[in-house]
Amino acid sequence: MPTSYDAIILGAGAAGLMCAARAGQRGKRVLVLERAEKPGKKILISGGGRCNFTNIGAGPTNYLSANPHFAKSALARYTARDFLDLVESYGIAWHEKTLGQLFCDSSAKQIVEMLLEECAKGDVTVRCSEEVTSVAHGDGFAVTTQTGTYTAPALVIATGGPSIPKMGATGFAYDLARQFGLKVVEPRPALVPLTLGGEEVLFRDISGVSAPVVATANKTGFAEAALFTHRGLSGPAILQASSYWRPGEPLFVDFIPERTAEWLMDAKRGNPRSGVRTQLREALPARLADILADKLGLDGDLGNLPDKALRSAGERLKRWTFHPNGTEGFAKAEVTVGGISTAELSSKTMQAKRFPGLYAIGEAVDVTGWLGGYNFQWAWASGVAAGDAL
Ligand code: FAD
Repeated sequence: MPTSYDAIILGAGAAGLMCAARAGQRGKRVLVLERAEKPGKKILISGGGRCNFTNIGAGPTNYLSANPHFAKSALARYTARDFLDLVESYGIAWHEKTLGQLFCDSSAKQIVEMLLEECAKGDVTVRCSEEVTSVAHGDGFAVTTQTGTYTAPALVIATGGPSIPKMGATGFAYDLARQFGLKVVEPRPALVPLTLGGEEVLFRDISGVSAPVVATANKTGFAEAALFTHRGLSGPAILQASSYWRPGEPLFVDFIPERTAEWLMDAKRGNPRSGVRTQLREALPARLADILADKLGLDGDLGNLPDKALRSAGERLKRWTFHPNGTEGFAKAEVTVGGISTAELSSKTMQAKRFPGLYAIGEAVDVTGWLGGYNFQWAWASGVAAGDAL
């Protein structure tokens, strides 16, 4: 093991390992320091253990950031196809589940093994159970862990975001960034279930029911499934919308995405003797249909209900307004929105503009992907951008 390194990478997660492999294979002497007892723990639990390792359609519009243009360069230079080529070169079998989401057929472990093999090809040193406690800057960077101090002229922050603290995730990246004077965009939980209170707690009675909807927050809508839970709302459509939702704002849900607001009026014309609840149950899971009918105050045959009431019910079902009273927080958030400000970094190299030698990649940076493999694609692409620049 060399005693001096060209670069130290903090965090052996998706971004850190990718960055280390690229730099190592370019002949750089690279040390990766990881606090956990093994590398890639989030990769191992991702995608239900099968790792949704990329999304074949990943592009800049699938990401949230204070600067929506920032991710363009890295994503264009290392694409989902590039990562898939790497996966295939290791003979890892994969499949597309839905909406361009690519998963391992077998196990997420294969992705971690592949990244470690790539690191080995570049003679990268990966040291686990090394929690970085402080970083000093003088003639290069001096990184202290409980076992010693390591130095290098370049330092990469790849310690991720604070989502899922019980896995050891922390806001360490932000503390470090602030130490070096870099701005941090306020982090908040994303891809996270939303909680309901007040009158909306009634929906908790249908915990376990799911339905295809379009969920919209802050003018951004997602057509996927919503799931009612004992605390509020979850399911892919809600998780996606949660990244755009802000406390105090409404969340709109279209419960009848395949139908128009005129649908109950059309049904009335076609079959006035049909019950309104029967109509709702045809369009929606029965328990959800009943609770919505109660809330809309609808009962009886369509023919006996005024046109105005049916039109208004159709409109409300197309744009049901929920008032979430919060999220389930970082404890349940798959990712973090916000992080080290992109204004501080070069979009080509991920190097801090005001602090040469300091880099930040992956989830630590204010670039957050949708659900569906986009977050790993950012980790790979930003890791490559820094790894090629170190
Ligand atoms: P991480 O992978 O979190 O790596 C950071 C590393 O830094 C960790 O290993 C951590 O232990 C280490 N570290 C932290 N502090 C210190 C310190 N002080 N000293 C040393 N080391 C430290 N995204 C997808 O695209 N597809 C999915 O299928 C998917 N599934 C997910 C499932 C779950 C349950 C969760 C929580 C997330 C999922 N994500 C998924 C998101 C994805 O895991 C992250 O976006 C991605 O791991 C970020 O990579 P990263 O390298 O930036 O951070």
